[in-house]
Amino acid sequence: MFAGNMPFYSEGFILESALYVVATPIGNLKDITLRAIEVLADVDLIAAEDTRHTGRLLEALDIRAKLVSLHEHNERERSQSLLDRIISGESVALVSDAGTPLISDPGSRLVQSAHDQGVRVIPVPGPSALVAALSVSGLECSKFVFEGFLPAKSGARKACIEALLPERRAVIYYESPHRIVDTLADMAEIIPNRRMVLARELTKTFETVFRAEVGEVLDFVTADTNQQKGEFVLIVEGTKDQGQEEAWELAGRMLKRLADELPPKQVAGIVSDITGIKKNELYQSLLSIQKKN
Ligand code: SAM
Repeated sequence: MFAGNMPFYSEGFILESALYVVATPIGNLKDITLRAIEVLADVDLIAAEDTRHTGRLLEALDIRAKLVSLHEHNERERSQSLLDRIISGESVALVSDAGTPLISDPGSRLVQSAHDQGVRVIPVPGPSALVAALSVSGLECSKFVFEGFLPAKSGARKACIEALLPERRAVIYYESPHRIVDTLADMAEIIPNRRMVLARELTKTFETVFRAEVGEVLDFVTADTNQQKGEFVLIVEGTKDQGQEEAWELAGRMLKRLADELPPKQVAGIVSDITGIKKNELYQSLLSIQKKN
């Protein structure tokens, strides 16, 4: 069977010496690709974020393979020995705990060094939570921005959310159960009426995809502690207002100019009259500008 000119399944296929960047499931083990299974079974070595975690996946796939750890604390030292092995003719696979390596996961140093040293890097594509969430979001997503995890501290987090106000593209965040309520509360303070999607536990038993305004999503999650558990992707829709970007550019300049001259509420009122942007949004923006300075 053939897909284009590529063999669908290649028995007896010998891997070339290269670094294979292999995506693994984000929940449902059936999401592993046939090619990922083949590569993981045939490489000389698998570099895994957590060898015990990947060990369980390999056991489920009935693959016996050599594993070494490669995580944020040892990536710098370990990368060169992995590359030396590839240069000497071996093949190495890089996997993370879930999804696509390097997407909010370790591996970027290794891949960069591989390029620097002329080592071939081969993708074995598959699941990634951000793409899975986007595909079911029901939001306009022809253009999007991936921001990864928001900062842990509320001040810095709010400043990042502020930056969303004029954004026309959908913005995607990853979030953990420890911070989901705080993050949604910060978002609701700044953009309560923006549409968003909360995608929780994708491909798992308690998968939830909830699309509503930010304030409604906060209510939904705070009303049910079960909705605060697991892994989350948050997608915030871009602004629909065509003139918003220009209005915010002008507002940003005015806020900075007037901030030292007048009280914040008065500044927000004046800039709101001129730009048409809501006074509360400007007030929040001014506070975060002042916090940064
Ligand atoms: N490399 C992974 C990828 O390609 O999606 C992401 C790794 S990052 C360390 C883990 C974060 O991804 C989680 O905190 C969550 O935000 C998101 N995530 C991973 N699996 C998920 C799932 N099944 N449902 C929703 N979000 C998920």
